[in-house]
Amino acid sequence: MHDRGRVLADLACAIADGARVISDFRVMADQRELFGLVASVPTAWRTLQEIARAGAPTESRLTAAVNTARRHAWAQAAARHGTLPGVRLAGRTLDGVTCIRLDATVTFAHSGKELAEANFKGFGHHPLLAECDNTGEPLAWMLRRGSAGSNTAADHVVLVDAAIAALPPGFRRKLMITCDGAGASHDLVRHLDKLAARRGYELTYSVGWALSEREKTALRLVPEQAWQAAIDGRGEVRERRADGACASSCCAHQACWIEEAHVTELTGLLREGPRGDQLKAWPAAMRVFARRERPHPGAQLTLLEAEDGWRYSLWVTNRAADTRGWLGQAAYVDAAHRVHARVEDVIRTGKDCGLGHFPSHDFKINAAWLTASMTAQILLAWLKLLALDGDLAKAEPRTLRYRVLHAAARLVHGGRRRRLKIQATWPWADAITTAWQRVNALPQPP
Ligand SMILES: [Zn+2]
Repeated sequence: MHDRGRVLADLACAIADGARVISDFRVMADQRELFGLVASVPTAWRTLQEIARAGAPTESRLTAAVNTARRHAWAQAAARHGTLPGVRLAGRTLDGVTCIRLDATVTFAHSGKELAEANFKGFGHHPLLAECDNTGEPLAWMLRRGSAGSNTAADHVVLVDAAIAALPPGFRRKLMITCDGAGASHDLVRHLDKLAARRGYELTYSVGWALSEREKTALRLVPEQAWQAAIDGRGEVRERRADGACASSCCAHQACWIEEAHVTELTGLLREGPRGDQLKAWPAAMRVFARRERPHPGAQLTLLEAEDGWRYSLWVTNRAADTRGWLGQAAYVDAAHRVHARVEDVIRTGKDCGLGHFPSHDFKINAAWLTASMTAQILLAWLKLLALDGDLAKAEPRTLRYRVLHAAARLVHGGRRRRLKIQATWPWADAITTAWQRVNALPQPP
């Protein structure tokens, strides 16, 4: 008899270790010394089937188990590092804030898996994920049919609540929530606004916003000097050399450089323009920002974009207009919304941890697999947070597997302790030994 939760945890370990299909599970069963009694491949299948059939109550027990483990892991991480890692924003770090990023991603399916459908990127499923930006781990996830919308309010609202509930209580008080996509819905913004209004909580959101006629009209009225230079992930202005620039590639002539992206705020034009308050249906704290960039050659442009040569993207935020310091500057308000390079990292990591390698035709079994795959990603994030340093603490799954998880080592019993024996010439031998000692020194969860 195997406990279902235990089998799922073993499956998550196998995926973290590089298993791509359930039959890879065998490798773990062959290493009893390390993993103890591991379920067989048929048991792993049966467990996924049982979780799929049992539905919501089992699902919430699994979620509760992961969230309890997170409380313990984060407490240990805070003890090790002094605090949880801050949110990196354009070369700066925002401490004391927990950042949740929502992202819909497309996974591809070749054959007729249940609810795999055509969508804007191809054919497959369209899961929605909520990631913690501080630690790079998934907090909540939802497998969805292929044609599910990128901006479906109901799904986003459910996921926001699940992601906040996944956080240890001490990390829920100061939140930043960002959501990509270009169509902030009333329901989502109203929900975030309500969460932000809770006494004793701070919540700053930023959500993608559609470019409609109303915004195009406002954009045409923005005076050129109201556009500020946007900054990139390192906090630097993105520039390129102008046509006909001088020969010195690092000159200081203003005319030789072209700023590639700018940011401006549209709130005033939309709320106090000649047509009155055009945002009165939206929360009073909500502000609208626009970013413009030089389009890539061959990009599909709207009429407005073709007309004036810029490509626009808009988003809304409740970041207070009187926010002091760097965080209140439009360039950083923009950077805070757009740290998507990192979300893509997390999604790439997910795809290297079973996301999309759905094993079954059955949608619910695949949803259970998604849980195992997300748990695998969580385990790797905690390993880095609790036991590794330097490059290894930032490494992607493939690197971790090659350098650490698949390194040849032996467990030896000496006295009452287990010791790890590893070839001293392996370049990461010291890091592995230290990590092993750190993991063993972790207190048992209460
Ligand atoms: Zn020059």
